[in-house]
Amino acid sequence: MRDQGEPAAGSRTIDDKDSRMRRSKHMFELSGKKVYVAGHRGMVGSALVRRLASEDCTVLAPARSELDLKDQTSVRAWFERERPDAVFLAAAKVGGILANDTFPADFLYDNLMIEANIIEAAHRTAVGKLMFLGSSCIYPKMAPQPIIEDTLLTGPLEPTNEWYAIAKIAGLKLAQAYRRQHGDDYISAMPTNLYGPGDNFDLKGSHVLPALIRKAHEAKLRGEHGLEIWGTGMPRREFLHVDDLADACVFLMKVYSEDEHINVGFGEDVMILEVAQMVMAAVGLEGDVRCDTTKPDGTPRKLMDARKLRALGWSPKTDLQQGIADAYRYFVQTGDQVRGMSVV
Ligand code: NDP
Repeated sequence: MRDQGEPAAGSRTIDDKDSRMRRSKHMFELSGKKVYVAGHRGMVGSALVRRLASEDCTVLAPARSELDLKDQTSVRAWFERERPDAVFLAAAKVGGILANDTFPADFLYDNLMIEANIIEAAHRTAVGKLMFLGSSCIYPKMAPQPIIEDTLLTGPLEPTNEWYAIAKIAGLKLAQAYRRQHGDDYISAMPTNLYGPGDNFDLKGSHVLPALIRKAHEAKLRGEHGLEIWGTGMPRREFLHVDDLADACVFLMKVYSEDEHINVGFGEDVMILEVAQMVMAAVGLEGDVRCDTTKPDGTPRKLMDARKLRALGWSPKTDLQQGIADAYRYFVQTGDQVRGMSVV
């Protein structure tokens, strides 16, 4: 794999003098500010609230019953009343392949409304800084790996979640458009696969890591040995602990002020087989990983290029084994309250 510091053949110079000058001109302080975390009960939003506790700022986190982000009138009234200085836009209708396939209108409409309402209300009330959160699904299905930021809109999307992806692309373009037309300091960050406290452990809808944690835990409770995984175990995936993501978002809120969105990744990927072995070690499940090769493998590799973020001086603190142990601790301690546990 290419070293993170080494430029890809033909790529542009990322950290040039002009961009450094633009950044230093736009340093944003959180100290003494009112900071609104939209989606504060979600996995990302709650990690942001935890991270912001160590900043000298006031976090605004209205209850869903108080503020439905699809409702433009309520959103405008809330912004007029509360006047946040900064906004992390981590509210979204999120779900897996099945949910996207079953509710395409909801995925497109809800996400378009949430982001349009918040961005416009932020502009009307002169919010000083806003970060829109997207995801790696904005990139073309066949994007060369590792995926660099300017692969956006260079090819067809993965059809299984295109409704969600189109809304996310519209969100980042909206942030960009308000910057261009009005000079608003709005930025967009695209996180890779996240895991950690607040994750969804529903076996039908969850991502690979929480699903493996739950399966390994339940296998251990049943006194079984070994863990079965789908496919050959050879596909490679990238994972970032949600507390590292929150730290990166706070970092970017302070130092990043550019038109283009920025990837937030771990910078390395790992084979699913190795992930399963790490999960077994964290859970204390003995035996081997069994690969059910009658099941499909999926995309061979999905890795975001994280050089742009690294060049700004941020890197993750939680290695995968340590992060999996943390996610498992959360899973055990939270018990029945874990998301997705009622669905078997
Ligand atoms: P969650 O589903 O955990 O959280 C989403 C939050 O949005 C929830 O708190 C939910 O509120 C809130 N929300 C949804 N609709 C509304 C609404 N109409 N009004 C008010 N609040 C609403 O998602 P994540 O935290 O995982 O994701 C957050 C962002 O991060 C998304 O944009 C996602 O694309 C991005 N991301 C996530 C990744 C991941 O692996 N989890 C990977 C890459 C990007 P309530 O709790 O009341 O339902």
